[in-house]
Amino acid sequence: MEHRDSLIRQVADWIRTSKKVIVFTGAGVSTESGIPDFRSPGGVWQKYNPEDFYYQKFISSEASREKYWQMSREFYEPLKNAEPNEAHRAIAQLEKLGKLDCVITQNIDNLHQRAGSSPEKVIELHGTAVSVSCLSCRKKYPREEIQARLLKGARVPLCDVCGGILKPDTVSFGQPMPPRETAESFDRARSCDLFIVIGSSLVVQPAASLPLEAKEHGAKLVMINRDPTYHDVYADAVIHGSAGEVMRRIVEAVRENPPSV
Ligand code: NAD
Repeated sequence: MEHRDSLIRQVADWIRTSKKVIVFTGAGVSTESGIPDFRSPGGVWQKYNPEDFYYQKFISSEASREKYWQMSREFYEPLKNAEPNEAHRAIAQLEKLGKLDCVITQNIDNLHQRAGSSPEKVIELHGTAVSVSCLSCRKKYPREEIQARLLKGARVPLCDVCGGILKPDTVSFGQPMPPRETAESFDRARSCDLFIVIGSSLVVQPAASLPLEAKEHGAKLVMINRDPTYHDVYADAVIHGSAGEVMRRIVEAVRENPPSV
């Protein structure tokens, strides 16, 4: 049996024998749905400079808000048309098989929920792109409505009610993390026995600490990524490849209930 095949069977075995399995996803789980990640070739940070998108700049400068909305308008188009892929569906299957404690996602694209994961099982650490809020009066708008304004030529949309600054409900660099989601993610990571990273370069903090937190508290750690990460050395299994193909095969192996290798 090839090394990769045996790793897939090994991970399936761990899933079957673990009591609390956490799946932790990053932008790489959604590239096969047509949403570019940030750091791969062709990713968002090859076109834009992340320095321009700090929260402090957004709230203090009209020019920064204009640049932000230009990037956001462009990024939202593939996101709005995206469909869940095999990886999202396989993760939703794990829940149906009773094998999932939760999905902790850095993604903002809502694709886990659209693939069938229960919303209460999905912890969105970096917020969501499906809504926009006024930073002054907190009125919420569907993103679609704001996107329509942008496509009609608005450069910096403002709140209808109070004229305040609007911002997507995503977490920008320098913006506080959502406290409940962050605390819950760390609590769950400390008490799981298997933590599976899928499609994350593990460079965005504090999310990138979660796999090591789980490992330090006794969990097995699995990495499924196209490219290596600095944290691979801590993993019990590293599988390089497409998230969709690898996750589909892992879940097939869980369902087949094969003998341990
Ligand atoms: P990243 O761009 O830093 O890293 C993506 C990782 O996924 C890389 O290691 C790459 O090798 C891997 N990858 C890419 N395509 C893959 C595939 N098909 N199969 C397996 N692996 C694949 O992403 P990150 O670590 O999530 O950090 C970026 C930040 O940007 C996150 O905070 C996230 O909130 C946000 N983001 C979200 C989306 C989204 O919602 N879809 C998209 C881009 C960025």
